[in-house]
Amino acid sequence: MSAVWDKEVDVLVVGSGAGGMLSALVAAKNHADVLIVEKEKLWGGTSATSGAGIWIPASDQAAAAGFNDSVDDAFKYVRALSADNVPDENIRAYVGNAAKMLRWMGANTDIEYHAFPYPDYHAENPGGSPTGYRTHMPLPLDGRRLGKDVRTLRFASPAASLFGYLNWHFDETYILLFRAKGWPWHLAKSLMRYWFDWPFRFTSRKDRRLTLGNALAGGLRLALNEAKVPLWLNSGLEELIEADGQIAGAVIRRDGKAMRVRARKGVVLAAGGFDKNQAMRDAHAPLYPNALYSGGTSGNTGDAIRAGQALGADTMNLQSTWAAPVFYVPGEDRGRLCTIERALPGCMMVNQQGERYLNEAASYHIVGQQMARRQREHGDASPSWFVFDHTYRHSYPVGPVYPLVPDWAQNGMVKTIFKKGRTLGELAEQMGGRSGPAGGHGQPLQRQCRQGRGPRFPPRRCGL
Ligand SMILES: Cc1cc2nc3c(=O)[nH]c(=O)nc-3n(C[C@H](O)[C@H](O)[C@H](O)COP(=O)(O)OP(=O)(O)OC[C@H]3O[C@@H](n4cnc5c(N)ncnc54)[C@H](O)[C@@H]3O)c2cc1C
Repeated sequence: MSAVWDKEVDVLVVGSGAGGMLSALVAAKNHADVLIVEKEKLWGGTSATSGAGIWIPASDQAAAAGFNDSVDDAFKYVRALSADNVPDENIRAYVGNAAKMLRWMGANTDIEYHAFPYPDYHAENPGGSPTGYRTHMPLPLDGRRLGKDVRTLRFASPAASLFGYLNWHFDETYILLFRAKGWPWHLAKSLMRYWFDWPFRFTSRKDRRLTLGNALAGGLRLALNEAKVPLWLNSGLEELIEADGQIAGAVIRRDGKAMRVRARKGVVLAAGGFDKNQAMRDAHAPLYPNALYSGGTSGNTGDAIRAGQALGADTMNLQSTWAAPVFYVPGEDRGRLCTIERALPGCMMVNQQGERYLNEAASYHIVGQQMARRQREHGDASPSWFVFDHTYRHSYPVGPVYPLVPDWAQNGMVKTIFKKGRTLGELAEQMGGRSGPAGGHGQPLQRQCRQGRGPRFPPRRCGL
């Protein structure tokens, strides 16, 4: 092997999501010379677009909130939900170290996480917590502290920002969703804060009040900047370099030029999943066939997995996914996660036959899995229809459609998936079915509505 290197560091971290940035920070705090490489022109990965809710049993924050948790209960809970081939020690390592990780992050960054009374998704299982306090959410962070780096931080997901630009904190969801006392003032204040962020506002649409995944990514980058850890954008891992049976470094394509980077102590692969790689989905996770519908960001094409495999590394459970229903607006580069909408009164989900086939108020993961299975077995669930009535339409946001914003003001692509009818028959026709006595969508829809989940219109598509 040639010993010619273009750059040498102790630790090379591939990927600038939360996994990569936190690993880099730990290495830097342990006196390593670290470099982060990111394939895309934006940093933060899917992490920056996420809710950044982290599941940590028995945390200091939960104890401070009066929740008496136990690591053994958490183990029982995760064990029952995990595949049989996941070793006990992996689960023990997670539940035993999660709280320590959060404590470390609190001590070494300005990210502040709080425990929330958000029940476990399978709270009924042994070890589950119906009162919550295992889900932790970050508090907002002032993005102005990032200087120019805030411009290349990924935008929050359209599903986690108002009007596609206004970042919001977890707590604020309730204020706006249920129009709590003072909500118009709260909204006006947030909009004013956003629009009066001058002169930044003239050059960027980005909200510098960072929340959710933006707060997590922003806080990690802030700590990395303070620790003087460089992050190269437009720098993708191409292959790992092996020498004497060890990983010696990697080939990184930076701004189009291949560079050999030596990593004296190790390479951390934190390049996300393969959700945006259609061929890998077809090969490993055919139950979830459409890469476009994934809520993940464009860079996640499984490069690091393939780089490892090329050197003989093994993989495990590639078929297993974090599933969720999404609204897919044609032309967008990813699906918009459909979380809160499904559990609000006055809506239901139906398949292409107009039949309700799942409990739409279940956790997104369960609904996503059930959609996938239904699609595999019957071919009629992707896309499904999200059906709701007039009251619902003007009470709650549904994906990109906001209450109080009239139908005519929706963007053109949203209109292509947003159907409306004054009767169930009309609605069924809009959905592409037949409304006559022979059935089609109209009859199952009527049956479901009589059973009390009652839409009087209009539906939108809910894709997988
Ligand atoms: C809308 C939404 C909300 C979510 N909310 C939550 C939540 O609240 N809680 C939760 O636990 N999970 C949530 N998730 C899932 C969670 O965001 C991801 O599991 C997590 O962010 C993955 O982190 P990561 O660091 O492994 O990867 P990522 O954050 O995706 O980062 C990977 C990075 O690697 C880069 N990369 C890829 N290939 C290369 C290469 N060859 N060279 C260099 N860089 C490369 C990518 O461009 C990307 O920037 C959510 C997901 C979505 C879509």
